[in-house]
Amino acid sequence: MTTDEGKLKEIKKAAEIIVDSSYLACLTGAGISVESGIRPFRGPGGLWTEKGEPSMDGYQRFLDDPEAYWERRIRRESEFASTILNSKPNPGHFALAELEKIGILKSLITQNIDNLHYESGSENVLEIHGNMLYLRCIECGEKWNMKEFNIEDIPPRCPECNGIIKSDTVMFGEPIPREVLRRCFEEAEKSDCMIVAGTSATVAPASSLPFIVKRNDGYLVEANIRPSEISDLCDVNIEAPSGKSLPLLVKEIKALL
Ligand code: ZN
Repeated sequence: MTTDEGKLKEIKKAAEIIVDSSYLACLTGAGISVESGIRPFRGPGGLWTEKGEPSMDGYQRFLDDPEAYWERRIRRESEFASTILNSKPNPGHFALAELEKIGILKSLITQNIDNLHYESGSENVLEIHGNMLYLRCIECGEKWNMKEFNIEDIPPRCPECNGIIKSDTVMFGEPIPREVLRRCFEEAEKSDCMIVAGTSATVAPASSLPFIVKRNDGYLVEANIRPSEISDLCDVNIEAPSGKSLPLLVKEIKALL
């Protein structure tokens, strides 16, 4: 059997499991956006693999001096940020959006901050680490599209509660907004099948979500370019770039409907 035939066999097996399931969720990470030109943080070719991990106390440093954070931010947009702003969804993102439209995918949980799931048409998206295109009040949690918020003072303050405003992106050491986290766990508990795409799911809290599905006797479908820490836990492993495997998976699912 050739590698391609092997992959197709895995994809067909995954499609059958998914069609038999009653509540499908999907967990995505940096790997799904690599084909959109966004470098992952970890692993081969990762931004942090090359440049070293950022300081683990980013949020504390922000709280200590929000003015300095905003001055840095306004002075220069990072290379990473401008790459994201110019990136477009790839066939992997579009496949998941289609899976939601045909009523199969109920919930999409992402660790990405790049907005590409929304841009590709997905609606039921939970962004664990926030969204780079938004600003958020650290007190009341209100959010604004970055483009629509007029920054006059540094640091900007919330018109509702006067709390300090920062990027919606969750920093190191910053608590994940409680409501998002609650909904992620709720969705994992409901799911009897989860696609894990473009992530090795090693970073908490996302890492515990596949385990919840497994603990409840659900199925896990992995779509990663290479084996990961989660591979042994998964019922099916589709070892390919998600921009290739997910469109094929959706095609097979539709053929079974
Ligand atoms: Zn506020």
